[in-house]
Amino acid sequence: MKGIEAHPERCTGCLICQLMCSFTFEGRFNPSRARIKIDRADGSCRISFSRECTLCGRCAEHCLYGALEVRGEG
Ligand code: SF4
Ligand code: SF4
Repeated sequence: MKGIEAHPERCTGCLICQLMCSFTFEGRFNPSRARIKIDRADGSCRISFSRECTLCGRCAEHCLYGALEVRGEG
């Protein structure tokens, strides 16, 4: 089964993933409209996905830090 594996220890909090997700599905760069959410607190990042995530992998393709990995087959 396909999934996105998150590696929060590699995440820099750059929010490119949120920008790419919102642009893909909403047609605009608005991180608050993304189906992936990065929470930064105490110098670390927490990565979560909403139920609307389609597992398209767009966010993972654009993460420059290897914090998101597509696993399995759709
Ligand atoms: S998961 Fe990747 S693209 Fe998203 S904020 Fe972290 S480092 Fe940036
Ligand atoms: S896999 Fe696709 S739908 Fe899910 S958070 Fe990433 S870009 Fe958005």
